[in-house]
Amino acid sequence: MNFTKNPPATGRHRAVGSVATKQRVGRGAVAVLGLTGIVMGVAAGAAPSAHASTAALTSASCTVVTIYKGSTGALVKTLQSRLRGLTADGVFGNLTLAKVKAFQKSHGLTVDGVVGPKTWTALGGFPGCTGGGSSTTVVTKQVVSGIDFLSVRTGPGTGYTRVAKLSPGTKVTGIINNGWLKITSGSYAGKYVSAAYLIDVPKVDPNPPVSTVKGWIATTGGITASVRSGPGFDYGVVAHKSSGAAVSGTQVSTDWVKISGGYINRGEIETTSATLTKVNAQIPTSQLCAVNKAYNSPNSFDPGYTVNTTRYINCSAGRALDSLQAAYKAKFGHYANIDLAYRDWAEQQYWYNKLGPAQANKPGTSNHGMGLAVDFQEWHGHTTEFDWGGVGSNWLRANGGKYGFTQPYAYGTTGESYHFNFTG
Ligand SMILES: [Zn+2]
Repeated sequence: MNFTKNPPATGRHRAVGSVATKQRVGRGAVAVLGLTGIVMGVAAGAAPSAHASTAALTSASCTVVTIYKGSTGALVKTLQSRLRGLTADGVFGNLTLAKVKAFQKSHGLTVDGVVGPKTWTALGGFPGCTGGGSSTTVVTKQVVSGIDFLSVRTGPGTGYTRVAKLSPGTKVTGIINNGWLKITSGSYAGKYVSAAYLIDVPKVDPNPPVSTVKGWIATTGGITASVRSGPGFDYGVVAHKSSGAAVSGTQVSTDWVKISGGYINRGEIETTSATLTKVNAQIPTSQLCAVNKAYNSPNSFDPGYTVNTTRYINCSAGRALDSLQAAYKAKFGHYANIDLAYRDWAEQQYWYNKLGPAQANKPGTSNHGMGLAVDFQEWHGHTTEFDWGGVGSNWLRANGGKYGFTQPYAYGTTGESYHFNFTG
């Protein structure tokens, strides 16, 4: 673990950065990186992106296995990892049962704790049955952000003729089988779109629970939270709330709270203490959500991270991250690898002790400690993907806001090209 440290150029950098401003050995040719960025930026902008029309999904027809309390094995592990916040031990016990019921409730399914075809579909599909297996369930989905268009075809495969292009955000209704949605209503009824580029329509409960949320803006280090004109990332940002500002409102869906002047993501509101330093880096992992390990960076690094380490994140931020990752994968064919998300006190102390105050945030002062920041892959097994000008960093800067993730640093500065805050 060798790395040199570049002193932060400004106080701002330290205030909003991660605990450790890690730099690769030899990195420091900022001007060269900046130039590379310009060249790559042009190339990326000029490249046609036909990813949406080239999805090739294959799947044999398959039988969905129903599992329930008492079930054990690999399927249960898959279930547990998809539900988040559970240890994937392969044993369907009371904790798993409670999570399944909560999931069913939040997805408008029958709350019976039994994971059958409909619940598997809502969970992203039965393993091996891309798109959820043989289904007759009519669903409404929307085209994921971050692609240019989604092709409407005459049949369920990329070999069929394209008859139309759907813009991101377009809603489609139909039946998903083997990775393709057959449209059942509207002007394209009978035609097909790839289900790989469809996500759940952000939900606004028509009969929202009247629950009041009172708290304080959870972002720290001068980072503001976004206030949007509606309850979802599709709505524009109309205002910002300062770190620590008192907010109160009514929860209208799992992730959105109506406040005076607009809507704010639930993940931006800390409800246990007005003193954020009493919360920062001291959040029990039971109150956070596990990050899908499929996003983990492949390499090991201090203190003790491996490809199998469970990362944690604020649950609302985690759901937004899942949508971001779906779009990223649609664009690039792989997830945006993650080094770090939530950092606890011990980890922050580790870096502070190791690097000192000039390079590491004091424990309790980073957005990582609130579960509201993500470091995408940096210098381990290094690629240029998330450097300034890298295709990943560029895409995240351009599209992260559609999922509530924003970068605090100006392009090409000594700030971290791979660090994004969840600002709602
Ligand atoms: Zn960071």
